[in-house]
Order: sequence, then structure tokens, then C-alpha cells
Amino acid sequence: MSLPDGVERRSFGGGEWLATEGDPVYGEPTAGGWRRWDPRRSKLGAMLEDGMDTGLEGGETVLYLGAAAGTTASHVADFAGPTYAVEFAARPARELLEAAEPRSRLFPLLKDARKPETYAHVIEPVDVVIQDVATRGQAAVALANRRFLREDGRLLLAVKARSEDVTRDPDAVFESVLGDLREGYAVRETRSLTPFHRDHLAVVAEPR
Ligand code: SAM
Repeated sequence: MSLPDGVERRSFGGGEWLATEGDPVYGEPTAGGWRRWDPRRSKLGAMLEDGMDTGLEGGETVLYLGAAAGTTASHVADFAGPTYAVEFAARPARELLEAAEPRSRLFPLLKDARKPETYAHVIEPVDVVIQDVATRGQAAVALANRRFLREDGRLLLAVKARSEDVTRDPDAVFESVLGDLREGYAVRETRSLTPFHRDHLAVVAEPR
């Protein structure tokens, strides 16, 4: 699968890595203005590294749910269009604000992704919802935020099994999350993110 415009494979002294062009955020190696995008630290990075058909071309409007300190959201804002980054924990959100400082397209929102009505007034319709929230009810979060997604848009979701139920078999958790998700989305592709992220399932879906 082709990479989005603005994401390239570049050499960082020892192998080729995904990279985006922008200011560094988490101590990642840089070369000539490009920053290494580590798939072990980013579910979306792992999806691209694995060759999943994310549909990303570059320049899209993005709603990013579960931005944490902005590790992945900053890479996204390097190649996408306006990127609205929702994070509800104050501590990582402070670092997210720092990551946003040199990025005119990254808009941090200290909000709860389970309550989209609290940020509906600042978000425009988006081409892509990227979701990586470590919370129970990950399908419910995706369904609640479907309202922002254009009809021809995409959901790129990383499901963390342990956030749903630490005691259940991850595959059973994934089946149950996918079942709930199908209430509002058509699932196009799923893939395990092992070995980059243990017990995580990547999902590409479209609203229906
Ligand atoms: N996506 C990030 C990255 O790659 O840089 C890492 C995200 S981390 C695995 C999950 C994040 O989801 C945490 O920072 C957590 O605070 C956030 N989160 C969990 N529940 C949330 C909610 N209801 N609303 C917003 N953020 C939430």
C-alpha cells in the first residue's frame, strides 16, 4: 500500500524508518528536518508499517481521539490537514500543547471522547477519525464520534483488549467490540498489531 503524501521511508543511520517532516516531540531521531516515526510507539505507525489500507493520502481533516502527549497526533498533523486532538487527562495534555506549539494544524482539546457534545461546536466534519483511547467501551466511543465523520470518511481504530476486560481472551474481546462497532460502521479490514503492540487489533471501517 502506498504511504500518505508527507510520510516517507528515510534512513536514520541503520535501516529505513517511516518519517514525517516537523519538529521533534518525544526525543525521536531527526535528519534533515524529518523525524523518525516509531511503529512500536504508535498504533497508526504500526498500521502503516504493516501496509494496511488506511486510505490516508495526506491533507485530510482529522479527529484524533486519545491523543495523549501527541506522539502520534503530531506525526498526523505533519502530513494531514486540520487535526483535532482530544485527550481527557491533564498531564499528557500539557505535553500535547507543547507538541502543538510549532504546528499550526494541530488543535488540542482537553475533552472526554465519550462526550462529543462538549466539543461538537469546535469541530468541522472530518475525513478521518483516528481512535486510540485506553478505555472500556471503545466501540461506543467510535459510535458516538461517528457524527463528525463525512459519509465517505474512514475510521482508523486501535482496539486495546485489556482496556475492555483484562480477564477475557483478547480474540473474544475483539469479536465483541467489532459486533458493537457494526451498528454504525462497515468494517473493511482488521489486523493484529502484534509484535508492535500486544493484544491490540487495528480496524479500518467506514460509516454506514
Ligand atoms: N494515541 C496516543 C499516541 O499514539 O501517541 C497514545 C494514546 S494512549 C494509548 C490512550 C490515551 O487515551 C491516554 O492518554 C488516555 O488518557 C486517553 N483516554 C482514555 N479515555 C479517554 C476518553 N474517554 N477521552 C479522551 N481520552 C481518553
